[in-house]
Amino acid sequence: MKNDINDMPEPFGRVTHTADEWVMARIVQKFGGTSVGDVDRIKNVALKVKAEVDRGNEVAVVLSAMSGETNRLVDLVSQMAPLYDAREYDVVVATGEQVTVGLLALALQDLGVSARSWLGWQIAIETDDVHGKARIENIVADELVKRMASGEVPVVAGFQGVAPNHRITTLGRGGSDTSAVALAAAVGADRCDIYTDVDGVYTTDPRIVSKARKIDRITYEEMLEMASLGAKVLQTRAVEMAMKTGQRIQVLSSFEDKPGTLVVDEDEIVEKELVSGIAYSRDEAKITLVRVSDKPGVAAAIFGPLSDANVNVDMIVQNRSVGGDATDMTFTVAQDDLDRAVETIENLSADIGYEKLLSDANVVKVSVVGVGMRSHAGVAQRMFAALAEKGINIQVISTSEIKVSVLIDEEYTELALRALHTAYGLDAT
Ligand code: ADP
Ligand code: ASP
Ligand code: MG
Repeated sequence: MKNDINDMPEPFGRVTHTADEWVMARIVQKFGGTSVGDVDRIKNVALKVKAEVDRGNEVAVVLSAMSGETNRLVDLVSQMAPLYDAREYDVVVATGEQVTVGLLALALQDLGVSARSWLGWQIAIETDDVHGKARIENIVADELVKRMASGEVPVVAGFQGVAPNHRITTLGRGGSDTSAVALAAAVGADRCDIYTDVDGVYTTDPRIVSKARKIDRITYEEMLEMASLGAKVLQTRAVEMAMKTGQRIQVLSSFEDKPGTLVVDEDEIVEKELVSGIAYSRDEAKITLVRVSDKPGVAAAIFGPLSDANVNVDMIVQNRSVGGDATDMTFTVAQDDLDRAVETIENLSADIGYEKLLSDANVVKVSVVGVGMRSHAGVAQRMFAALAEKGINIQVISTSEIKVSVLIDEEYTELALRALHTAYGLDAT
């Protein structure tokens, strides 16, 4: 086996295949953490893979680590070094997937299916060098395609890649979805099936709202908004990549044999809902600067340094205080960035000039998403009314063409999701 990047066949791109090269489909199957949570579940995955092979398909598999394992590894790193070196973080957290790919290769061999495990650097899945949230730049797919054509099943470690200097990288939490879509594009797969612990994409998280409904088809655009607004059923970058490469993806259950959700182009959907889904993200924190002087350049003085410190600012509101010479500035950042954001602002307090800095991590962002909003007014109003009826105060609002987001107190998350789900007529009957 060639397992040195320098030995790899010529790089790049989507491998084209001619019609006489294969008749049946080429498929990438991805299984998430719960699906590979223990030895029995991995055996169940092996049966699902074998079923596709027996249908005459060429199959490559992408796996996550066992559920809970990546959290455990992240925690070990934090215990060792709270302000860790991201290169070593990647070395540690990438190990979870090494275990599952080896075990599945063994399980497949046991069933008489020819299989071989592959780590990111062996393929190679080439990424940039942004450790902890690297982007895939290229996949050297030729060797895998050759092996798939000969009936071997490559079992690929998701979530990991290799940087230009040959160090291991990881793709950000939930990143094995992205590994799967990128691999599917690189091998020219006809299908990319994302197997998980729910049987598709729902109108909202089915673990919170029991009346959530499964969506049969969702547009790339809506899925992208849902994912980036917190629906972790697919990693945002995976949807982005599928959209860019035109890769069809299906989200379905590892545990039940039934159709899942297809992510498709807008023109493949006949009936467009006004609102397709409701997402939430607890990973939010709010900062308010009280009585910032109201003069040109203040916003730049605040948000420039935050951006230099790699802090992403999401929602922003500015209110003029009574009297007119000062303004209150409220904005949100990711919870992980809160300490850095506060430190950055406090270091600048002399330049910016504000009276007080307040921060609050007990907030949640709830968003309604739907392409139907483009052509219908009143979506936001219905949201505000539904929240008001439950006595939920809205702290910040932001909108785009196909979504409305509000920031509310975290303790109302479930109440808000249920109320909105009903208000937009999404409840399962
Ligand atoms: P995996 O380990 O298979 O990648 P994840 O935990 O990353 O699984 O994603 C699946 C989970 O996403 C579900 O268990 C569900 O709680 C959550 N989820 C959040 N929003 C949605 C949604 N709109 N539809 C389906 N699942 C959702
Ligand atoms: N194991 C990684 C994580 O927990 C990647 C993934 O599951 O997609 O984030
Ligand atoms: Mg996931």
